[in-house]
Amino acid sequence: MFDLENIIRPNIKLLTPYSSARDEFSGSEGIFLDANENPYGMMNRYPDPYQREVKEAISKLKKVPAENIFLGNGSDEVIDICFRAFCEPGKDKALTFTPTYGMYGVSAAINDVKMINVPLNDHFMIDIDKVEPYLDDKNLKLIFICSPNNPSGNLMRPEVIGNIIEEFKGIVIVDEAYIDFAKAESFNQKIDKYPNLIVMQTFSKAYGLASARVGMAFTSKEIIGYFNKIKPPYNVSKPNQEAVMTRISEAEGTKKEIEAILSERERVADELGKIRIIERVYPSDANFVLVKTDDATLIYEYLVDRRVIVRNRHSVINNALRVTIGTPRENNALIAALNGLADEMISR
Ligand SMILES: *Cc1c(COP(=O)(O)O)cnc(C)c1O
Repeated sequence: MFDLENIIRPNIKLLTPYSSARDEFSGSEGIFLDANENPYGMMNRYPDPYQREVKEAISKLKKVPAENIFLGNGSDEVIDICFRAFCEPGKDKALTFTPTYGMYGVSAAINDVKMINVPLNDHFMIDIDKVEPYLDDKNLKLIFICSPNNPSGNLMRPEVIGNIIEEFKGIVIVDEAYIDFAKAESFNQKIDKYPNLIVMQTFSKAYGLASARVGMAFTSKEIIGYFNKIKPPYNVSKPNQEAVMTRISEAEGTKKEIEAILSERERVADELGKIRIIERVYPSDANFVLVKTDDATLIYEYLVDRRVIVRNRHSVINNALRVTIGTPRENNALIAALNGLADEMISR
């Protein structure tokens, strides 16, 4: 049985959190002489530390009660808070499926937590037999599952994710940064069923707010209670909270952009597939495609010379490039440059 009280770090359980001025008085009317703010100006007041208004809006958008929502300064802050809440430095471990998002490993290293990297199979899917031997390890506290996965772009099978959540006595974090591009139900509808599940999403990708740094976690109110103790009191700024509110109110615009990106994804995948120097275009449930080439570094550098920047993933997947879907013009520039290189190679 999963028991949060056994898995939360003892120092976090005992922690008396910082109590901010806005904790002790949270009303919006009155003469505020409590937080040493400058009384003049537009941005002079500290923001709501619990981002209540934003969470109400997110609650309607994502169909998750506001009390089950936590906001971080990007998902990257949520990842770090997971380590600080659950893992004893120098002792505990985390597990993920590689190749995947690099921040899980970096955050583990910063927190002095050992990361177990279980390789995905040739189709970038989880091989459940390879995880099972680790699940009984008492020091394994966190499992990160990225779905759709970065950099491969594919969704993991929901039955496999469900099995891992059910079998593991620690915390499973499902990172759904790209879920708005996928035809799949979010695991955030299952947080009632699974007390050890944390689902992460972000405003950085489909919602177009990467510069605002707002990441979401959906989980039990008990886990959120601990996260609130750990986070810096004003971790999401007022301008960033406002950017999210505005963006949520423009739902039609976001929907149209996602549709445009998805139709471009199909066109770009198709066009790339016809270019001789591209050996394979992997299927994608996200706003990027992974391609296998005959020489990723050569192609990467050729593109950089033509002011087209893609991500060279050769260090993690042999000769692979990850290409984000841009506007039709940007995508055409990429396709034209790659066709140009393919022609040059033939004439050599
Ligand atoms: C981009 C990305 C994030 C987003 O991180 P933010 O800090 O919210 O911008 C999270 N997880 C994955 C897998 C990503 O690719």
